[in-house]
Amino acid sequence: MWIRSACYENHVIRRILTYPDPVLKQAAREVPNIDGALVRTIDDMVETMYAAPGVGLAAPQIGLSERVIVLDVDHDDRGTHLLKLVNPVIAERDGEILWEEGCLSVRDFTAEVRRAARVLVKGWTPEGKEIEIEADDLLGVALQHEIDHLDGTLFLDRLSRLKRDLYKRRLKKLEREGREPAPRRVMI
Ligand SMILES: [Zn+2]
Repeated sequence: MWIRSACYENHVIRRILTYPDPVLKQAAREVPNIDGALVRTIDDMVETMYAAPGVGLAAPQIGLSERVIVLDVDHDDRGTHLLKLVNPVIAERDGEILWEEGCLSVRDFTAEVRRAARVLVKGWTPEGKEIEIEADDLLGVALQHEIDHLDGTLFLDRLSRLKRDLYKRRLKKLEREGREPAPRRVMI
């Protein structure tokens, strides 16, 4: 049982790390048990995701190298489809799909990524309940994108070297000019 403290509503919007921060390249640890501190961190992740705005966020993106992700692919009906997953794994994958992806940790860049068309993901809720999710379309893609984060993989790593180098050059140019890349709307 979780006792919600009075500060439960005061979620903190965390800073999102961006490429090439080394934490994003690390494989995250399995969560051995879910305690109150982790539950509060997961709620901070949800607030941070909505504020960004993004449809998903993985713990390494806020500098926490643990296997936790949050997703909500429907911002028009915020919270109804909210998923908070601890130790998620892709148990089955099927088919193939190309999706134009962006990432809150990869500024000013989107690219088509090849993913499984459908996935079956197993994991745990913050309440310690085991769940299974069958997903396709945006949710299927977002789950694969977030679980990639837990393995230290960015969508950039799934592109051709040519496209990746193109992005690196563009980022260097933006940094030389001292410009902040423009934010994009749909990020996962
Ligand atoms: Zn991402």
